[in-house]
Amino acid sequence: MSCKRIRDIQQRLKKQVIEIRVLRKWIPLVKKNEVVQKTNELCYLFVDVHGDAIEASADADEVEYYDSIIKLSSCYRVTGFICTNRRPYMSTVNHEASLIIGKKAQFDPIPGLDIPTVYFNFATYEQLNDRVKDNKILTDYIGRVESNYLRPTTKNIVPRKTMLQDQWQKSVEIILWPQMQHLYGDEVKEGDIIAITSAAVTNHEGLMQLESTYLTTVVINPDLPQTASHVERLKKMESIPKSDTVDITLNVNQLNPKNLLGNKRMIRCKCYAKITKIFEQRGWYYAQCSKCTNKLYPEEDESLTFSCKDHDDIDPKLKYSLNVLIADNTGTEEVVFFDEGMTALIKKTCQDLVFKKRCIDPKILPQEIRDITKDDNDMLFLLTVKNKQIVVDNVLKINESSKNVGTSSQSENEDLPPQTPNPKVNAVKRPLHDTPGI
Ligand SMILES: [Zn+2]
Repeated sequence: MSCKRIRDIQQRLKKQVIEIRVLRKWIPLVKKNEVVQKTNELCYLFVDVHGDAIEASADADEVEYYDSIIKLSSCYRVTGFICTNRRPYMSTVNHEASLIIGKKAQFDPIPGLDIPTVYFNFATYEQLNDRVKDNKILTDYIGRVESNYLRPTTKNIVPRKTMLQDQWQKSVEIILWPQMQHLYGDEVKEGDIIAITSAAVTNHEGLMQLESTYLTTVVINPDLPQTASHVERLKKMESIPKSDTVDITLNVNQLNPKNLLGNKRMIRCKCYAKITKIFEQRGWYYAQCSKCTNKLYPEEDESLTFSCKDHDDIDPKLKYSLNVLIADNTGTEEVVFFDEGMTALIKKTCQDLVFKKRCIDPKILPQEIRDITKDDNDMLFLLTVKNKQIVVDNVLKINESSKNVGTSSQSENEDLPPQTPNPKVNAVKRPLHDTPGI
């Protein structure tokens, strides 16, 4: 019997034959009563020689049996499966049908040299709208990096935010939740191309966001036939013009609020500088009562607690507050780090330093903070200049070569991550899909 194109597979078709490569294997997770559980489905992603993909599922209780006949990345002529409709949630492909694999299914190895080793089905910007908060189909997307940094939220979660410009010159932001931050880090720079798979779409105040799920994979600067035309288009595009209220780059001498603000209430800007001094005697953190604005006092016996003079049963809020001097070759200026900026810089929360590392005295700097003056390279500060103070919103450690961002292809030689996702990544129990609301 002749072999069917995956594209032409529909539900209820009888006795079909396909020739495919096995690209992914995973056990889906679901949240039941706020508890994340594995389902009893063993899912596969198959792709054919035309680059079309379909999901297949088998019984996860029989995982050893299926592991013995179906190897990841291998190619097979497959018969004896059932064609049914698409899995109803978090489908990694936009195909109306899927396959059921049982004991009757046969997997005969074939060389399959022409069958692709990676699958993308990039959504258009238009399609994102239909997928907002709808996890029936997960989204693949490709874009060019405009910015990439860790951005702490008020809930002490530190997602990575990567602003992309897509092929329609729209801004789309990737939110990489902590449990998926092994996918990439600060090495991804402005001008790099990111292809992301299996993301969930949300809309935050008009900005389309692609949130990582436990199935998300990423390829940085893909060099594949499937991505070549997209990459070419993205590389040719002009950078999104930055509005003059955001992201103007100033030197330290220009930061002086009196000269800079005029009649404006505040200005956001970037500045390349080093931290040259810490005002240690003004303290590095404060503890505030959750029921009032009182300062809290540490108390210790077996354990460490913080007490309000007026209230019991409180949830102490520990926050960074650190004044430092920054400098470049034009001058020096005092800036203040609050929770957001300091967490971004040292990648530790104030809570952790106080409770886990027992750095209790606000006038004695933890080593992690003392070390911030030791970096010889300039850092990129994202600042909000206000009337009375200059607040550090975020800090990026950079090296000299990436200072002139946006024009060079400095990352071309970086190693690509493996194109075939690590199957273990998908099998590990992880929160389904964090949306703390940011
Ligand atoms: Zn209180």
